[in-house]
Amino acid sequence: MKRNVRQRIDRIVLLLSLTGITCAGIVLAGLTRPETTTHLPQGPVYGASAAPLYDPPEDNRPDGNSWALYLVNALNPLDKDYAPTLEKVRGYQVDERIAAALEDMLADCEAAGLSPMICSAYRTQEKQESLFARQVEKQKAAGLGEAAAVTAAASVVAKPGTSEHQTGLAVDLCAKDYQLLDEGQEDTPEYQWLCANCAEYGFIVRYPDGKSDVTGVIYEPWHFRYVGRAAAREIMADGLCLEEYLSRA
Ligand SMILES: [Zn+2]
Repeated sequence: MKRNVRQRIDRIVLLLSLTGITCAGIVLAGLTRPETTTHLPQGPVYGASAAPLYDPPEDNRPDGNSWALYLVNALNPLDKDYAPTLEKVRGYQVDERIAAALEDMLADCEAAGLSPMICSAYRTQEKQESLFARQVEKQKAAGLGEAAAVTAAASVVAKPGTSEHQTGLAVDLCAKDYQLLDEGQEDTPEYQWLCANCAEYGFIVRYPDGKSDVTGVIYEPWHFRYVGRAAAREIMADGLCLEEYLSRA
């Protein structure tokens, strides 16, 4: 029993050291190694449930062809006939292959005393078209001409056919008491926990701060993308975006 406790604490310390690099604001101070208690340290660490970590079915060494590493961005539109099999997690549809990992991550975040929620998940082409059109109108109302409005809209909402949400592999997650999808999300304990732990469930912060010139998308501390655990660990530990990872692999 004592040995199990020590192993668990060691695992938490390892996770913190792996993930702390890329997540500003994580407080490592005060972390102790109790010998006789199973209490876990407070803060954004792996959940208190101590359940086995999700083991993704495809957790192989990524070769760029894995379904979990499907790259969709402005330059790499979705295959027209791409049609993931969907499964609902907390009322939202996602690719069925990531459903268990997503549910485990949310449940463990809750077990750590936090309140994460899904704001957006799988979107159809039609839904993306309507979101994009609405954003173009917003930009035009702010005074931009048609072409400039389309360009400005594309930096906020992906053009239809180029959104990761159409893959079913991405979700927008927010704190229940801060449901705005803006940079303030990064200050919530929910985001900090997710940022620190998402890689262990196979997820990454897909559009990190300072990578807009590579991703073509603004910093989004709410958009999480499933890539499989091996890739996620490397991406989060090294502070990469998916494009950089795939060009490295
Ligand atoms: Zn998103």
